[in-house]
Amino acid sequence: MTGRVTLVGAGPGDPELLTFKAARAIGRATVLLVDDLVSDGVLAFASASARVIHVGKRGGCASTPQAFIEKLMLAEALKGEEVVRLKGGDPFMFGRGGEEAEHLRAHGVAVEVVGGITSGMAASAALGVPLTHRNHAHGVIFVTGHARAGGETLHWPTLGAAAAQGLTLVIYMGVSAVDTLQAGLLQSLPASTPAAIVQHASLPQQRQLVCTLGTLAARVRSDEFGSPAIVVIGDVLRGMASLAGSQPAAAAA
Ligand code: SAH
Repeated sequence: MTGRVTLVGAGPGDPELLTFKAARAIGRATVLLVDDLVSDGVLAFASASARVIHVGKRGGCASTPQAFIEKLMLAEALKGEEVVRLKGGDPFMFGRGGEEAEHLRAHGVAVEVVGGITSGMAASAALGVPLTHRNHAHGVIFVTGHARAGGETLHWPTLGAAAAQGLTLVIYMGVSAVDTLQAGLLQSLPASTPAAIVQHASLPQQRQLVCTLGTLAARVRSDEFGSPAIVVIGDVLRGMASLAGSQPAAAAA
């Protein structure tokens, strides 16, 4: 095989949540292809001579087509560059890390994966709530609220039934679908089911809200929650200090 790319999880935002392995890979890279959920603090680990290419979908630029990102990654690797593909959270938790790895391998480029702390876990830490508290949950479902274009749509009542069986729901990309997911989940869960949303988990601007499934969409709107955010649904949230109030971020240690 010629060429090598390291797919690195940049974690949820706080640079202290990078793994040592990720920080070292970032430091060694001569070319970094960076998604927009990667914080500037993480990029501080890059060498001053590295080329940093932002390929994210926000920040005012039109989204970089996925095919272009894959081509660029391949071309740089084949040139012998030390390429790091830096992705928010964990590179294999949503966000197309799998497609990128497949594309590279199909072209004979070796891929190393350095896992990261996924934002769902960062939301759990922010809330101070274990997603699998043994008194309330048997497990956890990580699910996207954003169904793939042209793909099958999610059946929220079925996911609600799973939550009723003691599986905590951790919903990525759920803000724009909050009305749909709320209506679907209410078909199989009581309106009093605890719900929470955490925006910018692990970053200084982190904010969170704990409410109930019945009030979730209205609270998301009235408190102006936006992306990136994680929605958590389930009994593990029961007993939180307040199921009604919005709390500011905990002060940084
Ligand atoms: N690979 C990423 C997820 C990419 S999908 C991971 O493992 O976290 C993008 C979604 O992740 C966002 O829409 C949002 O739901 C979530 N997300 C990413 N960073 C976040 C953060 N700091 N706080 C809350 N949600 C975040």
